[in-house]
Amino acid sequence: MYDKTSLRADDFINHDEIVDTLKYADAHRDDLPLIREILARARERKGLDHRDASVLLACEDEEVIAECYRLAEEIKQDYYGNRIVLFAPLYLSNYCVNGCLYCPYHSRNKNIRRVKLTQEQIRDEVIALQDMGHKRLAIEAGEDPRMNPIEYILESIDTIYNIHHKNGAIRRINVNIAATTIEDYKKLKDAEIGTYILFQETYHKQSYLKLHPTGPKHDYDYHTEAMDRAMEGGIDDVGLGVLYGLEMYRYEFAGVLMHAEHLEAVHGVGPHTISMPRVKPADDIDPDEFDGGISDETFAKLCALIRIAVPYTGMIISTRESQKVREMVLPLGVSQISGASRTSVGGYAEEELPEENSAQFDVSDRRTLDEIVNWLMRLGYIPSFCTACYRAGRTGDRFMELCKNMQILNCCHPNALLTLKEYLEDYASEDTKRIGTELINRELAVIPNENVRKKASDYLKTIAEGGRDFRF
Ligand code: SAM
Repeated sequence: MYDKTSLRADDFINHDEIVDTLKYADAHRDDLPLIREILARARERKGLDHRDASVLLACEDEEVIAECYRLAEEIKQDYYGNRIVLFAPLYLSNYCVNGCLYCPYHSRNKNIRRVKLTQEQIRDEVIALQDMGHKRLAIEAGEDPRMNPIEYILESIDTIYNIHHKNGAIRRINVNIAATTIEDYKKLKDAEIGTYILFQETYHKQSYLKLHPTGPKHDYDYHTEAMDRAMEGGIDDVGLGVLYGLEMYRYEFAGVLMHAEHLEAVHGVGPHTISMPRVKPADDIDPDEFDGGISDETFAKLCALIRIAVPYTGMIISTRESQKVREMVLPLGVSQISGASRTSVGGYAEEELPEENSAQFDVSDRRTLDEIVNWLMRLGYIPSFCTACYRAGRTGDRFMELCKNMQILNCCHPNALLTLKEYLEDYASEDTKRIGTELINRELAVIPNENVRKKASDYLKTIAEGGRDFRF
């Protein structure tokens, strides 16, 4: 039976509830009075539940869709402003014992080169990432208890946090590793990770079991209940995600919102982020073999509705998406993107030869970080390398409070400008530096609190003189 407060996966991601939700959404897709009522509630910016949001997703009325886009843009402006936080993934190891049908790391794939970075190689990778200007990483690894045990992940985190090349520093490490035990989550918490990210891949249990035929990831319940264990282990910030393209997107959309509602109901705080990956071609993987492929337009609609349904949850788009698609969805509520990503193990320090393929998927956006920063600013965004919240202990509900009280302009906004200034001083090309300096001068004036504005201005001067790492 559907129960969002239950700790059992089958109860909080209840199949019958999703099927009912989709029927309800179909029955009301043209019910304009109800849709107007849902939109009016959405305008209050308190979010929507999975049923209401599913009705909007089912609705094909062009005016309603345009209204959803407008609202998503407004909500993004209110809560996130024009900042876009930048990060890069760092692949530690592609050894994996699972049999996931969509992932080239699957254990039967003999074509790819298996690589596990040594601590020395991690140093090289991190120096290369620091030299681009990155301050935030998401570490990634296949699931292999023998090759990639938790001790290896912890040692790698420690190595990464302790590398300071020139003015470089990795100040926040998010972790995307397989579902694990409360004990391991406590260890990750003690290692001072930022967000624990785990994609559900699909919420449809029967499909999940088929798509993960072998290995520990086959256990749907263990995987689906991972975020509860992570939170019980003390991790405040968790990141959800569906791998769009595998199953019917409407089912997944209801599922991810139900997961968010469950976390809020049980732990008092929803997910910190929702990632929006789509299946991409990779060695041994053809996305067309799966049933759930979605058009760019549907993808954009999903992004807009996620923004409306969970206004305080960050939304992440990776380099799986092209520049064109990223431009389409950025205004609809995206808060974080990856830049200059390499999905091969060891791919930052050394360019990999095609025949040595160790990559997880093909990257669509192949631009350098400087090009990404420059492009974002030309589109009117503030590229941000900020990591302040988590370092100041503003995680979980404390971050949500900041968001709900709309204190972003007095806090996140100046922090974004300070970290952008660091980037411009240390890593930017001449053109990027010129555009960035103009942007900082303009955006400084937007800070409402006079004291904060003055202090930010002082910090910016100090950064120009060589000071680093200031924050509000
Ligand atoms: N091994 C970890 C686990 O089991 O959750 C996660 C790390 S994996 C490196 C990160 C994510 O990449 C997966 O959760 C999956 O959603 C995504 N992924 C796998 N194959 C992909 C593909 N062909 N295209 C796009 N994304 C893919």
